[in-house]
Amino acid sequence: MKSRHSPHPDLILHSGKIRTLAGNGSICEALACAGGRIVATGSSDEIRRLAGPDTESFDLKGRTAIPGLTDTHVHLSEKGTAEMELVDCRDFYVDVNSVADILQRLANAAAGAPKGSWIVAHGSPMQDFRIEDKRFPNRHDLDRVVPDNPVSISFGAHVTIANTPALAAAKITRDTPDPAGGHIRHDPQTGEPTGELHERAQLIVKKVAPEFNYLQLKDGIVFALDQCLQRGVTTVHDIVRYAEPVRAYQELYKEGRMHARVNILPRVIESMIESKSLIELGLITGFGNEWLRIGGVKMSIDGGITGRNACFHEPYENDEHNHGIIRIQQDELNHTVQVCHDAGLRCCVHAIGDKAFDMALDAYENAIEHSPRKDHRHRIEHMGNWLATPKLMQRMVRSGIVAIPNIAFAYYIGDAILDCVGERRLTKAFPFRTLLKNGIIIAGGSDSPGYWPVDPLRDIATAASRKMRWGDVWVPEERISVSEAFAMHTTTASWVGFEENEKGTLEVGKLGDIAVLTEDPFEIQPERIKDIKVEMTLVGGEVKYQA
Ligand SMILES: [Zn+2]
Repeated sequence: MKSRHSPHPDLILHSGKIRTLAGNGSICEALACAGGRIVATGSSDEIRRLAGPDTESFDLKGRTAIPGLTDTHVHLSEKGTAEMELVDCRDFYVDVNSVADILQRLANAAAGAPKGSWIVAHGSPMQDFRIEDKRFPNRHDLDRVVPDNPVSISFGAHVTIANTPALAAAKITRDTPDPAGGHIRHDPQTGEPTGELHERAQLIVKKVAPEFNYLQLKDGIVFALDQCLQRGVTTVHDIVRYAEPVRAYQELYKEGRMHARVNILPRVIESMIESKSLIELGLITGFGNEWLRIGGVKMSIDGGITGRNACFHEPYENDEHNHGIIRIQQDELNHTVQVCHDAGLRCCVHAIGDKAFDMALDAYENAIEHSPRKDHRHRIEHMGNWLATPKLMQRMVRSGIVAIPNIAFAYYIGDAILDCVGERRLTKAFPFRTLLKNGIIIAGGSDSPGYWPVDPLRDIATAASRKMRWGDVWVPEERISVSEAFAMHTTTASWVGFEENEKGTLEVGKLGDIAVLTEDPFEIQPERIKDIKVEMTLVGGEVKYQA
């Protein structure tokens, strides 16, 4: 038994199979927590003997416990309220297989809504590829089931469909011109708008639809953190773009409503937050406490791949002039990375296409050369998704840059993306085995919620099996082991958060962040890991979720 002196623990777990993930496959039967941390691990008999009259005791009945999981890339505060408030038509969340299924959900929502109030819904990106009808609903479909309320339903970031009352509220007619960077689709026969709005044309409707208020923002965060706990997630790295979520987190913490831990990544550039403000305040990575802290700064170079905006050296398939979009000039990127690096703020740069990788690496190499610093743990968000050439990998290793791939993209929409970047480029997609073999540090992020749920067990299953949602086993030679896949959401993810001494393994002295599972993920087919249920999640030695 390993233990730390204390009178009596607050809580013990016993008679389980506790996979500590410390060292080589170390397993124990029981552990004890006091003051939020693990104070002892050992056999059930040893640990039970520590219990006092007030110790809470849980019999795991042979079930497996693992360290609480970390998701290193989420948009939780930004999307949490939508998770709670919007009508859900997303096939990645609920059972929706046709236009009729979508209409049914909208009709149900309208039945309980006051006449004339907005019905705002969300579907999944590229859902028209997957539903039986192979198309989005149009304004007339929506009018048939909801004639009297304005309806707006978005499918991912690029398309929104509005019904007739919503188009009227937004004053969109057959004569409304396309806004810059957007497109209003018209019926080729009648010339009337079909209700389908692309890119920036979506804003015309979004501007007149009701907005969420601050209390809804706070409740949405609580809701989304609870969703995380239901999948064994105890820490997220959340990207924020304005002050309200940061204020909301601080208030929720004080109010005792924060049940999972958050590393905040303020986005700078194309954001309400400037790197200057953070630096002027003297904030450095790690400021805060074990529940809420600054994890670094986020910035973006290129766009997303589903909108064909990620920036590649080679053009998109069947689109020979489109290489994607660069949102920031190299000079500005270099400067921002340099000042954040110098100020002690870790950088997380979003780069999806290989051209964008080159820019991110140029900026990092430049900053590190000017002010050499070990242990900066700078990251490239989405690196490890599409392309990893030997040259890119060498540069990553030389500068010690961490890759944050998002295998959920492959799992959910890999088949649709084939159309954008072509077969040849995709044979190198999500090359986790190659990345690890070349010494690159990878940690997992889901980019959730919104498109799909926060669910590292799904991502671990996918990384270890390469079995995708649409049924294919995709590039099986890039499989990694279940242990390696878990590291992406436990030990390595904690290191990426500069928290390797606090979490990631179940050892004496670490935080009591623990997930209890219905099955042992190391004993089943890797692809089945995603189906494992979480029975109980503890954060700081307290039960925060119980099935
Ligand atoms: Zn993101």
